[in-house]
Amino acid sequence: MASIFTKIVHGEIPCYKIAEDEVCFAFLDINPLAKGHSLVIPKQEVDYLFDLDDELLTALMLFSKKIATAIGKAIPCKRVGVAVLGLEVPHAHLHLVPLQTEADISFSKPKLKLEKAEMENIAESIRGFLEP
Ligand code: AMP
Repeated sequence: MASIFTKIVHGEIPCYKIAEDEVCFAFLDINPLAKGHSLVIPKQEVDYLFDLDDELLTALMLFSKKIATAIGKAIPCKRVGVAVLGLEVPHAHLHLVPLQTEADISFSKPKLKLEKAEMENIAESIRGFLEP
C-alpha cells in the first residue's frame, strides 16, 4: 500500500505544499514542533533515508538546502535544524525545524495546534522566499 507521503505527492491527500522538483517534494508537517516545521521527501517511496541511492540522497539534500534557506527567511529563527526519525511514516524524510533554542527540536514536547489559515499563510510565506 502506498505511504501517506506517496498519497500526498500524488495529490490524493491534501497538504500545505511548499515546493517540488522532478524527484523531491516539500510540505509543512501537520503536527509542527515550531511554525514552519517542514518535511522534505523523495517522491520515490523508500522507507529508510540511508537506503536512498547516492544520486537521490544528494538531490534530496540539495533540495532541502533550498527549502531550509527559504524557511530561514520566512520564519524568524537562529537557524533551521534538521532531524531524521522515520519512526512513524515509513517513507524517507527530513524534518526542517526553525530553531530559537535546542528545545524547539525536541520531538517529545507537545506539538503546536495551528489553524488551517495560519498553516496556509506559513506555506505561502516560505514559498515566497524560494529562489527560482
Ligand atoms: P517520523 O516518521 O517519526 O519522522 O514522523 C512523521 C512526521 O510526519 C510527524 O512529524 C507527523 O506529524 C508528520 N505527518 C504525518 N502525516 C502527515 C500529513 N498527512 N501531513 C503532514 N505531515 C504529516
